[in-house]
Parts: sequence; C-alpha cells; structure tokens
Amino acid sequence: MSRTARLPRVLAVLTVLLAVLFAAACGKEGSPPGKGPAESRLPEYEVAKDFQLPDSPTWTRAKKRGYLRVGVKEDQPYLGERDPATGTYSGFDIEIAKMMAASLGFPQDKVHFRTIASANRETALQNGQIDFYVGTYTINDKRKKLVGFAGPYYMAGQSLLVRKNENDIHGPEDLDGKRVCSATGSTPYQRIKADYPKAILVSYDTYSVCVDNLLTYQVDAVTTDDAILIGYAAKAPNELKVVGRPFSEEPYGIGVPHGDNALRLALDDALEAREKNGDWKKAYDATLGLSGVPAPKPPAIDRYPAS
Ligand code: GLU
Repeated sequence: MSRTARLPRVLAVLTVLLAVLFAAACGKEGSPPGKGPAESRLPEYEVAKDFQLPDSPTWTRAKKRGYLRVGVKEDQPYLGERDPATGTYSGFDIEIAKMMAASLGFPQDKVHFRTIASANRETALQNGQIDFYVGTYTINDKRKKLVGFAGPYYMAGQSLLVRKNENDIHGPEDLDGKRVCSATGSTPYQRIKADYPKAILVSYDTYSVCVDNLLTYQVDAVTTDDAILIGYAAKAPNELKVVGRPFSEEPYGIGVPHGDNALRLALDDALEAREKNGDWKKAYDATLGLSGVPAPKPPAIDRYPAS
C-alpha cells in the first residue's frame, strides 16, 4: 500500500488511540482505573521494628542513606505504572516492593522508585544505582550469573497481543513474515529470535511503545508476558486482544546485587511471610486482580545455594 493510501487509516487509528487515552484519563465508570487503583484501597504493610541485616552490604548502605532505592517499570498497567501528574507509582510489582521494604524496616515514604527498562536491569543492580528491582523480571540461569533473585513471587507466561480485528495470529507459529514487537533485553524477545526466526522482530525499550506501534499498524503483534499484555488489552478492550495460550514460563523474581545472599534470603523470608499473612493476596486483588484474573496460588520460593 502506498504512503498516501495508508494515511487515512493511520489517522483513524490515531483518533481511536486518542479516544482510548482520553477515556482512560477520565476514568470512565465501569472501565478499569487509568492510573492504577485508588490509594485508599491498597493494603498497609506492617513495618518490621528494629530490623537488622548487617551481613548485607546493600541493606547497610540503604540504612545509612536513610531510604531504599528500588528499580521498577512505569508503563505496565496493573504491574508498575507511574502517574505523570503526581509521580506516584502503583501496581502489583510496586506493592511487592513496598511490602519487601516494610519487612526490611523501611516505611513507604522511605522507598524511592526509579524507572529502569528491561535491558538496563542488570547494569543498574551491578553499579549500585538501585538496591533491588521489582518489575516483571524473569528468573533464569543466564541472569543469575549477573544478579541474584529472591522469589519467585508470581508465575507469568509469554503470550501475544494483537489488534481486535486480527484473524490470522493465534500463536507463535503464525508469526512467519509478521512484524512482532518486544522489549530489548527481554526473555520474550530472545525466545522469538531463537525459536521463531521467520518472524520479523522489532524492539524498543518499552512495551508501551510496542503497543502504540500495534495500534498504528506499524507491527502486527506485541509479545511479552501474559500479565503485561492483559493489562494493555484491559485498557483498550475495543482495539486489542490477547490470543492463544502462554508458550513459556516466566517466574518473576526480585533482582538483588549479585553475591548479596543475605539480602536475597531475607527477601525470600519476607515473601514467604507476606504470602502466609495474606498481604500478597490483598496486594494482588488491589492491583493485577483488577484486570479480571483471580489470584493464583503463588509459586514456591526457590532458596538456591550461593554461587
Ligand atoms: N519477564 C520478561 C523478562 O524479564 C519480560 C518482561 C520484561 O521485559 O520485564 O524479560
């Protein structure tokens, strides 16, 4: 199709996109909240008193500094979202970060969030920019050589997001010759590259840019974890849909600096305690649960030996 012939369609899609964004911003009744759940409905986490973790260099530095620096995402609905007007972060990953901070003796106002893209997580942990990372971060052996992981605290699976009017893509085997977008440095990107080489892979720093490209017909599909895609689909239900079954296992972990086993194991204990006392489920129900998927049973914690 020529550029001029494509223009009206692109304009039409842009109009729809603007309408969707506008509706989300206005928080239309009956639609999911545009900027994450209301603060009042979020659980409060009991802050550990007199908590000490002298064997952790990361914790010791944070304690001296007086606050924690936590790396997160800012454009993933229900998981990690930043309200540009207030700078407030919300979502399931943000709640996990807050409850972990509380278990380490840091109240909510002593947690500073910093947005870090998928491709920059290992470097941010290695150079001490952040104390830990909570943002749809899959635990795998390759990454374990560079960083440590507490958890997992959630099990996701790779999936596909397409336009509502798409009829030809039902799973990764339908991607031959199709333009597929994912985030640079992510496991879904790697999997398409390795297992579906006939797909035309496009990558950006963030999934929200991929979704914009999908809505404007620049790509045919976006691929990443179902938990992330369900959020985008829920925000634009008339334009987007998640198709097929998840085709991988993506266990989400809390990234910590490599070698800080004291911090890793303290976070494992904290996760287990918060799952037992109901905080994990409350956090899920107030965030990711709003996308319509009921709370699953959290996966078993993996306290792997130090390497
Ligand atoms: N969970 C996958 C990963 O860690 C995809 C999501 C993301 O990029 O954060 O690479």
